[in-house]
Amino acid sequence: MSKSLNIALLGNPNTGKTSLFNSLTGLSQKVGNYPGITVEKKEGICMLNRTTKGHIIDLPGTYSLNASSIDESVVIETLLNKTGKDFPDVSVVVTDVENLKRNLLLFTQVKDLGIPTLLVINMADQMKRKGISLDIPVLEKALDTKIALISTRDNKGLEVFKETILNYRKFSTDPSISIETIDKEYFQNLGKAFPNQSIYKLWLVVTQDVNFIKIDRKRVSDATDFKTVTPSYLKRLQQKETIKRYQFINNVLKQGLKVDRESATDLRSRFDRVLIHKFWGYIIFFIILATIFQSIFDWSSIPMDFIDSTFANLSETLKNKLPRGVFTSLLTEGIIPGLGGIVIFIPQIAFLFLFISILEETGYMSRVVFLMDRGLRKFGLSGKSVIPLISGTACAIPAVMATRNIENWKERLITILVTPFTTCSARLPVYAILISLVIPEGSFFGLNYKGLMLMTLYLIGFGMALFAAWILSKTLSIKSKSYFVVELPNYKIPLLKNVGITVWEKTRTFVTEAGKIILAISILLWILASYGPGRNFNEADQIVLQNYPELNQEEMEIKVNSYKLENSYIGILGKTLEPLISPLGYDWKIGIALISSFAAREVFVGTLATIYSVENDVEDTIKNKMASEVRANGEPLFNLASGISLMLFYAFAMQCMSTLAIVKKETNSWKWPTIQLFGMTILAYIIAFLTYQFLA
Ligand code: GDP
Ligand code: MG
Repeated sequence: MSKSLNIALLGNPNTGKTSLFNSLTGLSQKVGNYPGITVEKKEGICMLNRTTKGHIIDLPGTYSLNASSIDESVVIETLLNKTGKDFPDVSVVVTDVENLKRNLLLFTQVKDLGIPTLLVINMADQMKRKGISLDIPVLEKALDTKIALISTRDNKGLEVFKETILNYRKFSTDPSISIETIDKEYFQNLGKAFPNQSIYKLWLVVTQDVNFIKIDRKRVSDATDFKTVTPSYLKRLQQKETIKRYQFINNVLKQGLKVDRESATDLRSRFDRVLIHKFWGYIIFFIILATIFQSIFDWSSIPMDFIDSTFANLSETLKNKLPRGVFTSLLTEGIIPGLGGIVIFIPQIAFLFLFISILEETGYMSRVVFLMDRGLRKFGLSGKSVIPLISGTACAIPAVMATRNIENWKERLITILVTPFTTCSARLPVYAILISLVIPEGSFFGLNYKGLMLMTLYLIGFGMALFAAWILSKTLSIKSKSYFVVELPNYKIPLLKNVGITVWEKTRTFVTEAGKIILAISILLWILASYGPGRNFNEADQIVLQNYPELNQEEMEIKVNSYKLENSYIGILGKTLEPLISPLGYDWKIGIALISSFAAREVFVGTLATIYSVENDVEDTIKNKMASEVRANGEPLFNLASGISLMLFYAFAMQCMSTLAIVKKETNSWKWPTIQLFGMTILAYIIAFLTYQFLA
């Protein structure tokens, strides 16, 4: 039987917790969510020696134990809940050698909880360049702890780390500061009322909204109740605590840390002079962005075309090889295209995250946040929302996944909710065909109307995203703290291991989590389109043969297919929908296209093609067919009014099951995708309605 130790990794953001976690656990990681909330939970297994397993949890970054965001309360709950299955046998506070002073605040707090605590000083590789020297034995003595000096970048110190941690029972658990000295009377009263509790834990409960050790708050306030104990008095005590901790830390560092600025060779300020420059900073950022998105489009189009044709060929081959029947058509028209619809997103997701994690790893992302923060904050977004908003022009799915970088939950949620407004590439074929149908030739200041219309649609998408964000930031009541310090970490060469794990993790999550839902809906849509009630559907062959005896076999087959689609459940649904959508200028055929667009928007053209029973040379013939469709009164179905109304509908409606699936996954609830589905679609309906009524 091997033993298993619970090891919790804690630390300020950007100290290298995740890098250490990756080095220790490799690919044996499990990423989930804490129950009921959306904070990401990462755990993994690491063999500490032959017989002892470490169960390692990478806790969210936190500056102190004075929680004010959900992320931070997860940390406190893990540390205080003795009966929880993640309660650490030993906690590891990860610090960065360059920011020791600030990082040690958290260390002293964790140690004061009485949990055996190991101090990891990471980024040892930077010491020489920064002119930093440490006297580890002196620091160990002054902090009364064990220290592991490591560099996850150079893979140094990890073996010593593992050995040290095995001796966790010998770690001192004495508090760093005696909290009682801040206010003797107050803490004595507290101690008398709860003689079996540690004073510092009690103090955390007093100052926290969340009560993890389940002590009776009323008894606390009774025990300490004298006139002066007001909330502002408690705040002041908390400040005194922090000051006391920093006094302790300063004293420790005076003994064990030396920084020789002369010998430091720092490139940072030279880079930053340009990269966060008020003018050049933006220019460089947009050049980098343009390059990234250009390459995502370029590079992923090759594998995407390949995936597309592979799945199409697979369907085709199986259709010809297998005996005709329900199973074959379920497989070739439902399951395989459904799987294809999942796999096809992989290249874009992988490339986007390759770039994002490189930007993160190098430290450049923090500069982007710094640059964009002020502008976006006006709309309730974060500087980090730029990446999702811009990635959304390719596809909302990787974009929504990219919001993981936004620490603040409210800003992240708003970004997730508004990202689908940006014009994704699936809308492009829809816009293209409608524009060519209904927008007249001609130009305005040398810009042709068609091009202007397309540009307007893109701008409307961004505009609506920002506007919706602003509304949401005013209406959503979510408490979540935003750090006003934007940290500018040092520039670094990216760690390939971190980049690789990020890309793998994102892709895998998409395929396994969102994939399930996408596949299920694809099959549902297939059922709706392949079955229908009554004679019209089931005897379509004979009916078409009777009515159109002159058609050759190929034409006949196409006609039968479109006749079947018209009388299938989805066709009936389209007709049922007609009264609802005719005020927008649409007929039931467009209704079918709207429903099946839910699988993916670009299906619009293909669906209409099937209904209008055209096959070859889709782009051209479908256009002529669409142009010649008329209403009962003889007017063309697609005119300026209905065309613009339809484009605006596509601009605003939430018609993408894959996006809903990923939003469900990222927000860990059906609430937000449901709100998105109805909110966006109702908005689209109203705008399309007004447009059509106004223009018609
Ligand atoms: P977390 O926020 O604490 O999880 O930190 P991460 O693991 O994401 O690391 C933050 C940054 O520090 C990344 O850019 C890492 O590549 C970098 N980093 C991590 N460990 C080291 C190290 O030992 N040396 C150096 N130079 N950089 C490191
Ligand atoms: Mg991390």
